[in-house]
Amino acid sequence: MKVQENVELLPYNTFGIKAKAKHFTTVGSIAEAQALLTSDLFRKEKHFFLGGGSNVLLTKDYDGLVVKVEMKGKDIVREDDDTVTLKVGAGENWHALVMHCVAQGWGGVENLSLIPGTSGAAPMQNIGAYGVEIKKNIFGVETLEIGSGNVVNFSNEACQFGYRESIFKHDAKDKFLISSITLTLTKRNHKYNISYGAIEETLKQNGVGTLSVKDISDAVIHIRQTKLPDPSRIGNAGSFFKNPSIHADLHDFLQKRYPSIPSYPAPDDLIKIPAAWLIEQCGWKGKRFDNIGVHEHQPLVLVNYGGGEGEKIWELAMNIQASVKEKFDIVLHPEVNVL
Ligand SMILES: Cc1cc2nc3c(=O)[nH]c(=O)nc-3n(C[C@H](O)[C@H](O)[C@H](O)COP(=O)(O)OP(=O)(O)OC[C@H]3O[C@@H](n4cnc5c(N)ncnc54)[C@H](O)[C@@H]3O)c2cc1C
Repeated sequence: MKVQENVELLPYNTFGIKAKAKHFTTVGSIAEAQALLTSDLFRKEKHFFLGGGSNVLLTKDYDGLVVKVEMKGKDIVREDDDTVTLKVGAGENWHALVMHCVAQGWGGVENLSLIPGTSGAAPMQNIGAYGVEIKKNIFGVETLEIGSGNVVNFSNEACQFGYRESIFKHDAKDKFLISSITLTLTKRNHKYNISYGAIEETLKQNGVGTLSVKDISDAVIHIRQTKLPDPSRIGNAGSFFKNPSIHADLHDFLQKRYPSIPSYPAPDDLIKIPAAWLIEQCGWKGKRFDNIGVHEHQPLVLVNYGGGEGEKIWELAMNIQASVKEKFDIVLHPEVNVL
């Protein structure tokens, strides 16, 4: 186990923030991870598991051990005429995995094309896009328990998935390292979801007749490339806030005042409001403050134009949160993990 000191984290986060980790190491196998999780250093120091760093905002140097999870592997564990079950190492790049599935004609994750980060982080916040969440395909999640290094498997149900939520952000937070995920994918009779966003329209523009997994993936990639800033060019971590769900009485009150307020049904009789709309109504869209700001097309995305500080981005996020609360009496909760 090689532990480095004082490591610059700039290359390891898509926001492009400069911050140092007191200690930094990588784990590429279960055995390496078990040795680390039961080591004295690990017991002594606070720790942070890092995948692709695409859902993290570093507001200061990290006074502990950053562990970059790099377990690789894609293995078929079960297959029949209809489905394939695939075990994927936590360190596998998510989009590359989706491309692998698309190339095989396996269905289920095509709407989740081009989401940055690793496969191991996917269940953390139950990644979702264009009407699909990964919970639909997760068969199980394999973890290593901190302290003992024991393998603990979570079934889909045990993961307690919700909108951008799982048990790993709550009761199981900081207790497990995710070592692999197991996905069930369809080989035929795919159930496509094209009703969300501009997928259907893009498919029409592309002249697509009989649908394939690849057609949908191509459409999603096209839409994402035109709408979202590419983190390799402008630092960002995707949506900064989750879309809030509100009670019907608050919704009715707001609808009288703002007749154009967009809304969608949410579980538990709640109503979901797009956070991007709320932020735009408060005048933040496209606002720039030195080298940080709110994206000009997608107000839910906070950006670092280069050299921005994490602390300043967090300050901006808190100002946005306060203004939305003041205008709409709605509290926005960050989706991004703030360190
Ligand atoms: C341009 C852009 C677009 C995005 N679009 C979407 C989108 O459409 N939908 C969506 O849901 N998200 C989106 N995201 C957010 C992000 O890509 C996902 O949340 C992704 O799953 C994060 O993966 P990561 O490997 O980068 O995780 P990291 O940012 O490295 O970590 C995220 C969290 O997971 C924990 N973690 C990571 N790996 C492990 C592990 N192996 N074991 C235990 N804990 C771990 C970390 O400690 C941290 O708390 C977007 C981000 C960007 C930059």
